[in-house]
Amino acid sequence: MHSLVIRNVRPMGGETTSVTIREGRIAGYSEDFGEGAEILDGAGAILIPGLVEAHTHMDKTLLGMGWYRNEVGPGLIDKIENERMQRRVLGIDPARQSARQAVLAASLGTTHVRTHVDVDTEVGVAGIEGVLETRERYRDVVDIELVAFPQSGMLIRPGTVELMEKALQLGAQVVGGLDPAGIDRDPKGHLDVVFGLAEKYGVPVDIHLHEPAELGAFSMELIIERTKALGLQGKVTISHAFCLGMTDQDYVAALITALAQAQIHILTTAPASRPAPAVKRLVEAGIVIAAGTDGVRDTWGPYNNPDMLERAVLVGLRNNLRRDDEVALALDTCTFGGARMMGLNDYGLDLGCKADLVLLDGETLAEAVVDRRPRRMVLKGGKVIARDGTALIAAP
Ligand SMILES: [Zn+2]
Repeated sequence: MHSLVIRNVRPMGGETTSVTIREGRIAGYSEDFGEGAEILDGAGAILIPGLVEAHTHMDKTLLGMGWYRNEVGPGLIDKIENERMQRRVLGIDPARQSARQAVLAASLGTTHVRTHVDVDTEVGVAGIEGVLETRERYRDVVDIELVAFPQSGMLIRPGTVELMEKALQLGAQVVGGLDPAGIDRDPKGHLDVVFGLAEKYGVPVDIHLHEPAELGAFSMELIIERTKALGLQGKVTISHAFCLGMTDQDYVAALITALAQAQIHILTTAPASRPAPAVKRLVEAGIVIAAGTDGVRDTWGPYNNPDMLERAVLVGLRNNLRRDDEVALALDTCTFGGARMMGLNDYGLDLGCKADLVLLDGETLAEAVVDRRPRRMVLKGGKVIARDGTALIAAP
């Protein structure tokens, strides 16, 4: 049986040891790894489980397509309509673009991705088909989970619900939703469709909720009601949840209690320019909080890249996390938080877990996050897929 041993690593920044990998899984931590094992040197690096990108849009990144001059209007709907137009003008190929992001993310230590893929009456399910192609082609490099995402609304664009259903039949694993009041202007109708599809196909739910303050809180309450009514505790994520950053602290406290009871997960990008959920407060309430990049270099904005260590820094900055244990908490949103949100059972550094691993340079975990140097080594299923920041597989 083939064994791979990486000597001289420090799990989560702790004591130096060796990790043995067999059949793509973590088989032990000791110097006693028997004859014939392939041995690599970890050079004292910190060993962490793979980074988890829990919210992005791989089908529409513009990576590798040259600079996009952004002249989009200020509203959410401006960005949505501009993007639908640019998809045609620029020729954004979902298979090619998602592959580019997949390989770049893998080189940065991301081993799992949840990506929201547009489903609308113009693109149909072509985005889903493109990203499914990438999921298959790069399945040994990164795990990709697809959310069928009605970016342009569902009820305001007749035919979209049928396409959402088709997306789930094709292989999307999660049903998405978007601002039930703000976009569809029919919160009950929108959420009944989303949760109806979740029930029919037995899939989790992940809803983009940008709606601010009381409007967002109202939609959030409707999501909580449906989660409990359908017994979907632990299967529902609310992405962004800007309303949890509103000023009415009594209202926020009540929402947090209700979210915890319904075991609803929260996804944050830790936005600099919007109210945002308070990470520590949610963790203390027992809520799973994960982090994501959202759009990478797309028509929405130029800033993001898929480095989840950079995201951990942004989570830390947004939440005033300074102490070493707090920086570790910021990193946790980009590792275990995402894994719990996505229901990854064999994730982590325990014996038997899948050997999806990253070796980071740094004296401590906090230093590794803050410095975010090129990843020394990335393993997926026990195979080295990137070294010193460079992926060993080519992107298109
Ligand atoms: Zn998004």
